[in-house]
Amino acid sequence: MTRLTRWLAMAAVALALVVAAAGMTERVTQAQAQARITSPEQFFGFQMGADRKLVRWDKAVEYYKLLEKESGGKLKVVDMGPTEMGNPFLLVVITSPANQARLEELRQMNLTLSDPRGVPESEIRRIVAEGKVVICQTMSMHASEVGGINMAPELTYDLVARTDDEARRILDNVIFLEIPSFNPDGAIMIHDYYVKYLGTEYEGGPLPWLYNKYIGHDNNRDALTMNMKDSRYVGKLMFVDWKPQAYVDHHHMGSYGARIFVPPYAEPIRPLADPQVWREMQWYGGHIAYKEEEAGLSGVSNTSQYSGWGHFGFHWITPFHNIAGMLTESASVRIATPLYIDPSQLSGGARGLETYKEQMNFPNPWPGGWWTLRGVVERQKVSAWATLDLAARNRETVLWNAYLKASRQTERGAKGKPAAYAMSASQHDPLTLNKLVNALLAQGIEVLRSPKGFAAQDGMTYPPGSFYVQLAQPKMGLIRYLLGETHYMDNEHTRRQDGTPIRPYDMGQDVLAEYMGIRVDPLNEALTGDFVMVAAPVVPVGRVATKAPFGYVLDGRLNDSFRAVNLLWDKSVAVRRVNTAADGLRPGDWIVPAGSDAVVADVARLTGVDFNPLKAAMTKGAYDARRLRIGMYRRYRGGNMDEGWTRWLFEQWGFPFSEVYDAEILKGNLNAKYDVFIFADDSTSAITGEPGGGRGEGRGGAAFASVPNTTPPEYRSGIGSEGVNAIRDFVQKGGMLVTLGGATDFAITRLGLPVRNVVAGLDSKEFFCPGSTLRVRIDNTHPLAYGMPAEGLVLFHYSPAFDVVATDFNHRNDIVVRYADRNVERSGWLNGEKFIAGKTAMASVGLGQGRVVLIGFRTQNRAQTHGTYKFLFNALVSQPVSPSR
Ligand SMILES: [Zn+2]
Repeated sequence: MTRLTRWLAMAAVALALVVAAAGMTERVTQAQAQARITSPEQFFGFQMGADRKLVRWDKAVEYYKLLEKESGGKLKVVDMGPTEMGNPFLLVVITSPANQARLEELRQMNLTLSDPRGVPESEIRRIVAEGKVVICQTMSMHASEVGGINMAPELTYDLVARTDDEARRILDNVIFLEIPSFNPDGAIMIHDYYVKYLGTEYEGGPLPWLYNKYIGHDNNRDALTMNMKDSRYVGKLMFVDWKPQAYVDHHHMGSYGARIFVPPYAEPIRPLADPQVWREMQWYGGHIAYKEEEAGLSGVSNTSQYSGWGHFGFHWITPFHNIAGMLTESASVRIATPLYIDPSQLSGGARGLETYKEQMNFPNPWPGGWWTLRGVVERQKVSAWATLDLAARNRETVLWNAYLKASRQTERGAKGKPAAYAMSASQHDPLTLNKLVNALLAQGIEVLRSPKGFAAQDGMTYPPGSFYVQLAQPKMGLIRYLLGETHYMDNEHTRRQDGTPIRPYDMGQDVLAEYMGIRVDPLNEALTGDFVMVAAPVVPVGRVATKAPFGYVLDGRLNDSFRAVNLLWDKSVAVRRVNTAADGLRPGDWIVPAGSDAVVADVARLTGVDFNPLKAAMTKGAYDARRLRIGMYRRYRGGNMDEGWTRWLFEQWGFPFSEVYDAEILKGNLNAKYDVFIFADDSTSAITGEPGGGRGEGRGGAAFASVPNTTPPEYRSGIGSEGVNAIRDFVQKGGMLVTLGGATDFAITRLGLPVRNVVAGLDSKEFFCPGSTLRVRIDNTHPLAYGMPAEGLVLFHYSPAFDVVATDFNHRNDIVVRYADRNVERSGWLNGEKFIAGKTAMASVGLGQGRVVLIGFRTQNRAQTHGTYKFLFNALVSQPVSPSR
């Protein structure tokens, strides 16, 4: 060995030692890092999904904030704001520290891919090379479906604590936007109710009321208009700020079929999305199912149960945002209490999963036995991880396809017909037009406005301030569904072999413009003009006439006039209402006295309603309108979503009301406190308390005397025959009872009204109409229809339609709204038009000194059908003394 070689050898040894030491240091550092990250089990004191254990939201918030400190920069907690009940709504951003450091730059790159109009291909290729996949997943939106909120801490911990290649690849290549609870208010309710009854015979029973302040399970239908704060946070995150490539929403389903449903969906799919979005769902779903089997988890099914044409909830509207919008559905346990299932009780019987045996989309049936929340957590966690894993392994492909989806949808929009939609500033209720525009903006849709007005090829002209939406933009498909006539498909995917229609998952259409009563004109050719982009929500400020010696007029056609009048009434301003057309005034217009200028200016600013001058003193043709005392029926049995929506609506529009439970009705003498009493859409049995009605109660075999009722006695509601008598007494003494949707049956059958539901009992092969907008004729001289156009659209959702039966007292009954005589369907799916053509849609029926209002259609559905709000609002203010007939 020469000196040189000896020296080289020594150097090599020294180098090896240094390398070894460095490696040791690295290992030690990693070990220390892992040691410093608190596991969910350490923090909460139990394994996630352990029997009879639930994470409470406030503790979960603490845990994510702790992980933020411990994660070494891999995790950021964003408090998006308060929920409807004031709890924090969190976004947890998980990605590598390097990505976190340039998050805003990466977000901008992602936005370019999702709307690449005008961007050179070289720039697209740079972003594909350097960008990161963005994935959003949301947990336990339906709070009783507790898997997600209990799985998320473990998923999050794994992402920040694991140091293997798979975990590192995810953090390097994916920006994971995690919503660890999509319903914090409900999560707290479910936790506390469950814990309260642990160890009693009511353990694991359903929550007796809605699991959030207003809308319960319907929160998944709120992506269309995002009325709730929680929805707005996630909508803004996904539709405007980030536009992820994929989205997964984690839910639960029934207990006796597959253990977990994973993507893709079953038939039918809703057309007009980029086809690649459905292929992506197969791709992600295939990888998820593959990883579930790899982990030895049985009972995984896909291409079943959940059809690709659903409601426009978050996971079903996202495909039209060019996001692979997916869901998982796990078999429920009794909240966190295990459920024993005998193998003979397992069954298929679902769309795409007819039998419970091995098949292509269900190769490994779960054998039965004890089913636990841990079983849910494990399967959900694998599905969530696999989604991230697939994206991480295929980063460039996913990003390139994001570009393709957006650019191809834009091309389709440019070539297709219609090419654009025009929305005239001249509408029956122009303030509601602004709300439609704002709803489009919230979806991230580009809306243009014309300051000077424009003309279309067919000779139509549009005044200054009119709006224009071109379809040559990435969200083309969504625009078509929100603004354009839509017909549900009628084919082999939507009917059984004998022709029986298969119920759509939700509505037969989602045409927001039709819900809102806004006229939207399809244009076959795109226009060029001096349009300007609407960059922010339109918030109009009402004008107040400077000279109004006789007082002001508010346009009765504006929904917002009701809000204005409520604000005026709050300030004790006396308001009159026009009931005879004269002198440019219409029935339903409001008259505000002169001399209330300070109040008026505020109200105009808040509502956008113009205070126009009254031309002359009014001596006749108007009456002193006053606020009615409103009683709103509330029940248990899981609560009533339609009632919750109605409460929310009343609060937004400034109608004060009282919530009335059974006990108050049973006391009777309701006239002393109320002028009008409201039953939201409901079944008769849910109102009266007879068996069989209402969500929640009855699950678990309450029909069998030997099976315990899982609802505590104090929450078993129903007004019974005594309550029916109290309601009848209220009406006979001059009260007004307003019944919505299915609750009309309660009024008709229990109060013995001379009214017949003409579609009751019809076979669905004869008559079938899920969530469709139907044409109606309206008697807008009737006080309940003041401010309405003579013809309009209403939302029919398995609704009743009426015949008012001839009696000697026909004069006491008014038909306010009738279905059109022909061509009844505007959008949706109406089979059997002849059964409802010309029939009554809304009536007012006399009973004693009072009256019962029957609104069969969905007048305020999900606070989306602005076009028919006035039918309800008119019933909440005093009526003129009706002219004798
Ligand atoms: Zn759900």
